[in-house]
Amino acid sequence: MQYTSEQLEKWDKKYVWHPFTQMQSYMEEKPFIVEKGEGSYLFDVDGKAYLDGYASLWVNVHGHNDKKLNEALYEQIQKIAHSTLLGSANVPSILLAKKLAEITPGQLSKVFYSDTGSAAVEIALKIAYQYWKNLDPVKYAHKNKFVSFNEAYHGDTIGAVSVGGMDLFHRIFKPLLFERIAAPSPYTYRMNHLGDEESVKAYCLQELEVLLQTQGNEIAGLIIEPLVQGAAGIITHPRGFLKEVEQLCRTYNVLLICDEVAVGFGRTGTLFACEQEDVEPDLICIGKGITGGYMPLAATLTTDKVFAAFLANPDENKTFFHGHTYTGNQLACSVALKNIELIEKRELIKSVQEKAKRWTKQLEKLYELSIVGDIRQRGLMVGVEIVKNRDSKEMFSINDGVISQIITRAKEKGLIIRQLGPVITMMPILAMTDEELNKMAEIVYEAIKEAAETYQLIESTK
Ligand SMILES: *Cc1c(COP(=O)(O)O)cnc(C)c1O
Repeated sequence: MQYTSEQLEKWDKKYVWHPFTQMQSYMEEKPFIVEKGEGSYLFDVDGKAYLDGYASLWVNVHGHNDKKLNEALYEQIQKIAHSTLLGSANVPSILLAKKLAEITPGQLSKVFYSDTGSAAVEIALKIAYQYWKNLDPVKYAHKNKFVSFNEAYHGDTIGAVSVGGMDLFHRIFKPLLFERIAAPSPYTYRMNHLGDEESVKAYCLQELEVLLQTQGNEIAGLIIEPLVQGAAGIITHPRGFLKEVEQLCRTYNVLLICDEVAVGFGRTGTLFACEQEDVEPDLICIGKGITGGYMPLAATLTTDKVFAAFLANPDENKTFFHGHTYTGNQLACSVALKNIELIEKRELIKSVQEKAKRWTKQLEKLYELSIVGDIRQRGLMVGVEIVKNRDSKEMFSINDGVISQIITRAKEKGLIIRQLGPVITMMPILAMTDEELNKMAEIVYEAIKEAAETYQLIESTK
């Protein structure tokens, strides 16, 4: 390589502001600088290999440096890299839209492209809001609000943050945000004062119904992460929750927006999470895995019914005035199309289901460790909630350093994973083998064990 790892480290710290990162702490550590990837592995600038246990932030599907995906990009780049979708069309974006309409659940038939999950959410919110205004601005004058769930995460732009419910990320921006209506989310592990999973589900649905009943005429849409609230710490919803949320939306005339940015493209064991409960959203947001982890691309899909409300003469002002410069980018769309074709050809969904089932057995061993409070899994999406005391469910404080120790130990052992609050998350590349998944579980076991022992040692000498 042209540059030494020391040079790169110096310039990284000097010039790059990393997302979701306390840069003061970052400066004190040796950064993890990736140089290349191959299959399930990332290689740093010193040539050390690491299992990519977070699928490069939940995006990678077939593994790094996939020959077929590379070819799709080469093929496209020899034709053209980008032209605009504003007032003109391009070949890959047409073919991908047709494909997306075919594979997404329910009646979704119109594709609006963007480049990040957050933008896909902004677009869904704006479409839902304008839909009612376009239908009847007088009758629906008050349909201006959105319902979202406690601990929801829908992205980092201002609209997406407005419907977010994660206090740590969102509190500071409160004065900038529009009002949301918060519904309780069924976080069974931390709500067991209400009873079992069924009771928690019933409680949340009842609260939601009260909100919709009393404020339905002020609510344009409800946004939900189907089956799993990812960023909140892999909160897995009770079976049937999503279906009942859908029915409540229908009853109270509220558009259902499913944010499948994290759970879409096979992560939970079906191509889309909605499929598992036969749910037909009015709008869906997709991103992350859409290009197999190759290019920034996202999309918002909606139904003919919603789309029809935007059709009118130009002077009626029903046009959807929204668009991003790189909307429908050819490189991104062509690699996304190939990604979906490969998911089908390689029968990836079936293999995710089978591997996930086998992996459960390995993961359950983590319960041998006393600081493991809860293990939550849907497909290849896993959260391990770490607690100081299993009975009281008391959490460690940041200063105990236990959670960060686990991540550091895992990295030393060649596995990259991340934490979300007190939750160790495992988001393997979907194409990982059983051997690689088992290796992940083993490393996590050892890392938790060692971090717990270190903590106990320090406590005992205090
Ligand atoms: C990651 C994520 C987003 C935001 O996507 P970006 O591409 O990071 O903007 C939105 N919703 C959910 C559920 C996500 O997991």
